[in-house]
This record gives sequence, C-alpha cells and structure tokens, in this order.
Amino acid sequence: MRATVLSDRLIQLNRLRFVNAYLVREDDGFTLVDTTLSGGAEALIAAAKRAGDRIRRIALTHGHGDHIGSLDSLKQRLGDAVQVLIPDLDARIHAGESVVEGKVPGSWPKVKTVPDVRLMAGERVGSLEVIASPGHTPGHVAFLDTRDRTLIAGDALTSLGRVQVPTQFYWRFPWAASATWDKAKALESARALRGLEPATLVVGHGPAVRSPGSAMDGAIARSARSVGG
Ligand SMILES: [Zn+2]
Repeated sequence: MRATVLSDRLIQLNRLRFVNAYLVREDDGFTLVDTTLSGGAEALIAAAKRAGDRIRRIALTHGHGDHIGSLDSLKQRLGDAVQVLIPDLDARIHAGESVVEGKVPGSWPKVKTVPDVRLMAGERVGSLEVIASPGHTPGHVAFLDTRDRTLIAGDALTSLGRVQVPTQFYWRFPWAASATWDKAKALESARALRGLEPATLVVGHGPAVRSPGSAMDGAIARSARSVGG
C-alpha cells in the first residue's frame, strides 16, 4: 500500500498501482473513503495508525468489488468502533433488492457487513458533503470536503493517463466504461461534479488532479461526443 499525503486532511492510499482509498482527517479520527479490493484491511489500518489516528467511519462511493472488497475484514477487525456508510441504492443491490431494470455491470461480491447508514445525497459525513453522482453505478456518490473543496469522485471520473468520464473505451483504463451502468447518467453526473468547482479532484483510479476544471471540461466534451449528450 502506497500512502501519499495530499494535504493536512487527505491521504491517498494506493494498492497495486490500480485502485485508491482515502483517509480524510476529522477531529475524532479518520473517515476511510472506499476500501480497495479484498486483502487490504491490515494495510489500511496500519496506514491510519502511521498517520496518527484511528479509522472512525468507512464511507463508500459505490458498491463495486474494487471499492468494497476489504469492508468485511475491516469491520471484523474494527468492530463496533467503526461506522459503515454505503450509498442507498448500492446498499440495496448488495442486499439483493432489484433496484433498477436489468443487470448492473461490474463486480458485486458477496458482502456480509450491513451498513449503519444508507447514504443519501445532501447528507454529511463529517466534513464531507454527499453528492449524488449516479451512472457508473445506480447509487454512486462523490464526497466534497467543504473545508477546501476537494472532491473525492470515486469512479464517476478516472485519472489514469488523463481525466476521463467512464463512458467510453480508453486504453489506459479499459475496464471503466464496461463496468458503467448508465452512460448518459454518468455524463450528467460528471457535469454536476464539474459545477461544484472543485479545487482538487481525487478518484478511485489514478492520481490527484489539482485545479481540475479544464481537465474535467475536456473529459466531459469527449464523453459527450461518445454518448451523444
Ligand atoms: Zn467502479
């Protein structure tokens, strides 16, 4: 696990040069955003310890396996001391409810942990505001740190190679588009995230992007040509 300190409040944790989780510093400890693939629990807990605090909450951007994969083992190790927050629709998919028509693409591994909170847009998780960003998955959310306008966008955007909306094939990260549920909604969500005027963009796959406005504009324009929106 590779830890990169992005600011006083934010540490990026990267596994396998492929997927990120984030430690967001709050007064009472860390909010861990996403958990990476399975097998990451020890390293995520150790990274928090090295950064000087405990994980108090685990908040997910969406339910795909490379984001929820270490949730059960984290919960097993951290127990009731940690609160688990999962976006409402994706939590329902994990609970076996059929929330949308047809099959939802991407990996949806079996998860035992029942969330303490099913997150809705507009709610807060400490300093983070929950931002609806459906499309990649039905319930996908992003988190805006209202202290410094850092946007944790999950897979609503990727930045491997360049900033992309996961709506069309891109060779640097070919799986993103095929795991996206509704491409028109994903494009709409990218526009909404752009409208937040984030100061820094961080994502599930790829490096942090400072002052990401023009890169997001480019990604949205390419996506619109491909989706036709
Ligand atoms: Zn995903």
